[in-house]
Amino acid sequence: MGHPCLSCGACCAYFRVAFHWSEAEAFMGGTVPPELTEKLDPHRLAMRGTQAARPRCIALQGTVGEAASCGIYAQRPSVCREVAPAWEFGTPSPQCDKARLAHGLAALTPEDWLDPPGAGVPPLPQSA
Ligand code: SF4
Ligand code: SF4
Repeated sequence: MGHPCLSCGACCAYFRVAFHWSEAEAFMGGTVPPELTEKLDPHRLAMRGTQAARPRCIALQGTVGEAASCGIYAQRPSVCREVAPAWEFGTPSPQCDKARLAHGLAALTPEDWLDPPGAGVPPLPQSA
């Protein structure tokens, strides 16, 4: 299987994604595109779409639970970098579980990170 996040995206359509305003200020070293944010309070911005009754980050591409990706992956806020997929590095992730369950997806298990049968096995030689 591919990386589970690429067929998920649930956490990008569940939480309010809030972070310090400086993360969207280039002169402060920020990387988040400001036009994709909105003011939350004097100290914080939020990714547009994530404060809605049914949140969905404006930067999320694709369909949750099928094929999803972050359109600003290299520029995403710090909070996005901190959400770890459950068990990728051997530890649980309550945020990942909560978001997946809310979207009708099963929580990840350690088995989801095992190589599929045949992984790493060289392909058979092709017959002429
Ligand atoms: S909910 Fe978990 S598996 Fe889904 S995209 Fe977020 S971190 Fe990845
Ligand atoms: S910025 Fe990217 S990683 Fe963060 S919530 Fe939006 S789509 Fe998800």
